[in-house]
Amino acid sequence: MNIVLLGPPGAGKGTQALRIAKTYDIPHISTGEIFRRAVADETEMGMRAKAYMNRGELVPDEVVIGIVKERLEGPDCAEGFLLDGFPRTVAQAEALEKELSKSGRELDSGLDIEVGRASLIKRLTGRRTCRACGKVYHLTFDPPQSATTCDACGGELWQRDDDTEETVSKRLDVYEEQTAPLIDFYNERDLLVEVDGERGVDDVFSAVKQLLTA
Ligand code: ADP
Ligand code: ADP
Ligand code: ZN
Repeated sequence: MNIVLLGPPGAGKGTQALRIAKTYDIPHISTGEIFRRAVADETEMGMRAKAYMNRGELVPDEVVIGIVKERLEGPDCAEGFLLDGFPRTVAQAEALEKELSKSGRELDSGLDIEVGRASLIKRLTGRRTCRACGKVYHLTFDPPQSATTCDACGGELWQRDDDTEETVSKRLDVYEEQTAPLIDFYNERDLLVEVDGERGVDDVFSAVKQLLTA
């Protein structure tokens, strides 16, 4: 199964992606994760991406597209993949389509998780992430036992630099301008699948499973 996850920042893409990847046994490819790792490792690409990320802007298409192309050539992607956070612009979606067609592949679904702005702001500003293992919590909706320590590995929990209220608002505007047009893009290709993301994590996942196997 070849899937892209659409939906605004904070919709629960990462949360659902973990479950989808496990259930369908496909690799979860998060471009946000790839960039955060590159920033932590202080690679050249990471240093370049960091400034855009901290402003709540998108990293330039040519950087992102190159990374994803390379990743999709991985042998683990041959039987399917789940892209989380890519594509985020029409140019990225077009590049993906072209790249897949070169190897005789195509997408099965563009899964859009729909959540309103008020909930997105609450979800993003309350999100806490483990520095060591990457596990994601929410201070209210999925609280860790201690606000500073990961239940799973004992690592330090932190608030992403771009999850502050000011940057969140910018990211939601960028989503509306640059990423929301992908809903039409995939709708025109009959690939769009929409799920109401305002419910609890398990209810959203049940709906996702039904839609993906329908
Ligand atoms: P969220 O989980 O809130 O949707 P991500 O972790 O997917 O956010 O992305 C964090 C940041 O990384 C984005 O705000 C952007 O700067 C950068 N980024 C991630 N994916 C892309 C992409 N496909 N195109 C451009 N920038 C990206
Ligand atoms: P995205 O990858 O789309 O930015 P995440 O999966 O990181 O979103 O979720 C954003 C925040 O919202 C996290 O703190 C997560 O724990 C929380 N969250 C995810 N799904 C739900 C849900 N269905 N209801 C409430 N909170 C959620
Ligand atoms: Zn951890």
